[in-house]
Amino acid sequence: MFRSLHMKLMLIMTLLIVSLMTVVGAFLVNSVSSFYLDQFYTQMQSVFQNDTEFYHDLQNAAPGEENGAEQIGRMLETYTGNLGVDGLARNYYILDGTTGAYLNGSNDQEGSGLEMTHNLALALAGEVGDDSDISASYMDVAIPLTRGDSRYVIYIKDTRQTVQNLTNELVTLILEALAFGLAISVLLSFLLSKTLITPIERLTEGAEEVAGGDFSHKIEVDSKDEIGVLTATFNNMAGQLQNTIQEVENERNKLDTLFLHMTDGVAAFGRRGEIIQSNPAAEEMLGRALPIGGEVDYAALFGEIAPLEQVLEPGQQGYVEGALERGGRSLELLLAPFDKEAQAGVLVVIHDVTERHKTEEMRKEFVANVSHELRTPLTNIRSYAETLVDNAGALPAEMAKNFLNVILGESDRMTHIVQDLLTLSRFDSGRSELNLTAFSFSEAIESMTNANRMEAQRHGHTLELQLEPGLPQITADRERITQVMMNVVSNAIKYTPDGGHIQISAGRMGRNRVWMEVADDGIGIPEADRDRIFERFYRVDKARSRESGGTGLGLSIAKEIVDQHRGELRLVDRTGPGLTIRMELLTEGPEHGKA
Ligand code: ADP
Repeated sequence: MFRSLHMKLMLIMTLLIVSLMTVVGAFLVNSVSSFYLDQFYTQMQSVFQNDTEFYHDLQNAAPGEENGAEQIGRMLETYTGNLGVDGLARNYYILDGTTGAYLNGSNDQEGSGLEMTHNLALALAGEVGDDSDISASYMDVAIPLTRGDSRYVIYIKDTRQTVQNLTNELVTLILEALAFGLAISVLLSFLLSKTLITPIERLTEGAEEVAGGDFSHKIEVDSKDEIGVLTATFNNMAGQLQNTIQEVENERNKLDTLFLHMTDGVAAFGRRGEIIQSNPAAEEMLGRALPIGGEVDYAALFGEIAPLEQVLEPGQQGYVEGALERGGRSLELLLAPFDKEAQAGVLVVIHDVTERHKTEEMRKEFVANVSHELRTPLTNIRSYAETLVDNAGALPAEMAKNFLNVILGESDRMTHIVQDLLTLSRFDSGRSELNLTAFSFSEAIESMTNANRMEAQRHGHTLELQLEPGLPQITADRERITQVMMNVVSNAIKYTPDGGHIQISAGRMGRNRVWMEVADDGIGIPEADRDRIFERFYRVDKARSRESGGTGLGLSIAKEIVDQHRGELRLVDRTGPGLTIRMELLTEGPEHGKA
């Protein structure tokens, strides 16, 4: 009940008023009593001490002539005003100085039953009794008096009725003031709560909304006081918070997108090895789904590289490196702990290096092939040249000429290889420009076929040409396309045993494509080697190829040329004997429709 600020405020004000009134009341009552007491003794002093003449008269006026007590009574009667004697609350009494018996006084009735107070006892003993006790229910003063042989005591006693009445009135007044003050405190606390607590309540509501995620809620600022400043600061803070959260959100979205689309695989594991995050690249590289909280865990995936505990405490380097082979892929891994202090888990970054390895392998193979291809003719040249030098003049002229012809042939072969390699390197570096012209596709095929007829005849092959009528013009580098056709047809002639059948056909497909096929019934190539026929230096039968002057580079150059024309060069899928190679080209040339 006393939890609310309103109640607390009311309680404080009530307590304040009650305690204030109590203190004020006590002080007032006490002051009034003290004042009354002081006044009493001042009056007594002024008569019995300061007015020496009166006191002298009291002692000496005609002693013995008449009853002394009556005489003293009469004299005192003239001083009732000075002494404040009213016959009700305050009275004077004249007592016998020896026995204390009542002789005369302003109130006979009370006088006969006077109690023996401390002051009275003192006076009977011959001393002035004027001790005051503020807590007593009366005030009194007793003065001994000696007249001749007689001893009297003048005793003045006040019942304090007057001060009691005054005090009662004061207490009533204070209680009334208290009641009034309490009523005001209730009213004031109500007003205070209205002006103080209402804005605080509004602020609390606003804070709850912000805590619930609604940052757009603005609290009205009504005043310029501290609460007004607090409200404005709160609004400002909510705005800042909204901006910061927005920034964090944007940052997270960016990271999410990056995480989702990055080519490297990333997987995060908790301290117990459970998956807590992974991206599609990681799933693809590892060839399995990586559901969060699923059964697949760190130990199953990467346990063979390093146990989780070792990655969590990776030592100085801060991470562990490893490699894996999965589904024909070569993967390089980097395993690092994150949130080091708390050891929250392990982050694994997976890099697919299959292509790099393949390229490296190919590069090594290529260098080995080049060296080998160049060394063979060089060895031949050297041995023939050595024989010539060693037997200078001793060899028959015919034989020496033969040797020299071999040397020439081998150096031609080397030149051929080097030229082919240069052509390929130009393709690789993108320095090979196409010289595009429009020409008749059928005419180009016809002239290429005619150029090969002699050679075909030499091998007893039948060379058949079958062209669809109305073949269109094409835009291409005529010289290079002719080089491709020549290569394919000469291969067909080379790799078909004498007396074979070679068919060259061409046609149109779709709106903007033409094709040419060269089919032979020769040795063909084994099924396993079909994919490799366009690789550099690839030859099914090295000896046979070399014999016929082949380098193993012809078809790879042909494929590069056709690719550069955005066309296609491939083997036709058919059963043997022999082989069919198909070339497809765009009629409008490689530049057409390119972005
Ligand atoms: P090469 O200069 O050795 O002829 P190519 O690149 O032109 O090199 O051909 C590569 C290899 O492909 C050849 O060595 C040969 O083994 C094979 N090949 C090419 N064309 C044919 C074909 N028509 N029939 C059988 N094998 C072929």
